Amino acid sequence: TSAVDIAKSFLDRLRRTEPHLNSFLHVSPDEAILKQAEELDNKIKNNDAVGPLAGVLVGVKDNICTYDMPSTAGSRLLENYWPPFDATAVRKLRESGAIVVGKTNLDEFGMGSTTEGSGYQVTANPWDLSRVPGGSSGGSAAAVSARQCMVALGSDTGGSVRQPASFCGVVGLKPTYGRVSRYGLVAYASSLDVIGCFGSSVADAGILLNSISGHDKFDATSSKREVPDYQSQFVAIDYLESKPLKGLRVGVIRETLENGVDSEVISSVRSAVSHLEELGCSVMEVSLPSFSLGLPAYYILALSESSSNLSRYDGVRYGKQVPGDELNSLYGDSRAQGFGSEVKMRILMGTYALSAGYYDAYYKRAQQVRTIIRNSFKEALDKNDILISPAAPSVAYKIGEKKNDPLAMYAGDIMTVNVNLAGLPALVLPCGFVEGGAGGLPVGFQMIGAAFDEEKLLKIGHIFE
Ligand code: GLN
Repeated sequence: TSAVDIAKSFLDRLRRTEPHLNSFLHVSPDEAILKQAEELDNKIKNNDAVGPLAGVLVGVKDNICTYDMPSTAGSRLLENYWPPFDATAVRKLRESGAIVVGKTNLDEFGMGSTTEGSGYQVTANPWDLSRVPGGSSGGSAAAVSARQCMVALGSDTGGSVRQPASFCGVVGLKPTYGRVSRYGLVAYASSLDVIGCFGSSVADAGILLNSISGHDKFDATSSKREVPDYQSQFVAIDYLESKPLKGLRVGVIRETLENGVDSEVISSVRSAVSHLEELGCSVMEVSLPSFSLGLPAYYILALSESSSNLSRYDGVRYGKQVPGDELNSLYGDSRAQGFGSEVKMRILMGTYALSAGYYDAYYKRAQQVRTIIRNSFKEALDKNDILISPAAPSVAYKIGEKKNDPLAMYAGDIMTVNVNLAGLPALVLPCGFVEGGAGGLPVGFQMIGAAFDEEKLLKIGHIFE
């Protein structure tokens, strides 16, 4: 088969499924996709070198800039925004031979856990169309799950790659903070944001990570550490060895398998842990008493940073402009009409937490909690190779169920936010199904690694699946 044939079959499936899913905000014209595939076929025919992602069809979350497609971040405020440049991660993907299929739906600016907060459309979960795909990268997760594209990019500030991966039954990888350049990622909370990968296998996610990682002079927080070859280790594994993970220490986080978590989720995660044990891991329970502090600390820090980051949308520099007689009404009206209600609420709360008189009580304390959480993870990961938890306390819930109850939605982020506060890498993998939908609803579990130890996560994940 040629790259053109493969692209045609994916485009065909995309056309047939998209009316039910709404995972894309923008799909590249067929001619543009097929032209790129044809160029690759010609290169292969002429024995010219092609990149490691040659012909790979990738979906890109719409808060990641692309020069040839709009980039709205799910916000009406950026409805007509076409960036004049590619995000570094997208540039690297294209240089590796990947073809960008389109831009996937998300909660406005990444603020949400269901994709219902998009300013444009609600994405459905492919396993049950009446349920949410998770969020905020719900479009990317649904698209990979329904094979509308092969892999996808998302962003993860507090779980936005991992929770939708879990809800949609695909693999989600959140790299270490700084592993992937944030240049061209629309900022939500800059000290937490990271671009991550979706795939239908661990190997897919690893290959994607290989292409997008590395230092970038346009992002001062991107790491100068060398990028290991995440693919080579898949080849090096001895697949005949009955205990290939012998000697690895796995710590199961006690606080994540207690009350508040669905019992079916707990039993699926426990069976994944038993499987790791069969593969040779030694398993221990670890306690992280600060675990539950993550949620309040995260929401104070994320909202504070976002209130500052979103001040750039003034109706002058980007996006929607509502003309007015004087500058202040232009600013006010453009923001009032451009932002959705969740975003406005978050800006208000973030501004409040940062205001003089409240700063010490909220922002400063949250930073102190962040340090405590970071240290407790460091300590636990000195004694264990990886830590394990569910990816979310429940499986995908119904569209509308938590729409008017933001606190219930925020509470669902409990499993993922600590990892961002600590800046660590984490991999989410499917580990079972619970009853629901047409053929069951997927459950995912999360493996958390030490900073810049994506290799270990990928190796364990690859052997696990
Ligand atoms: N659900 C979390 C939030 O709303 C995380 C979102 C994300 O990771 N972008 O902030």
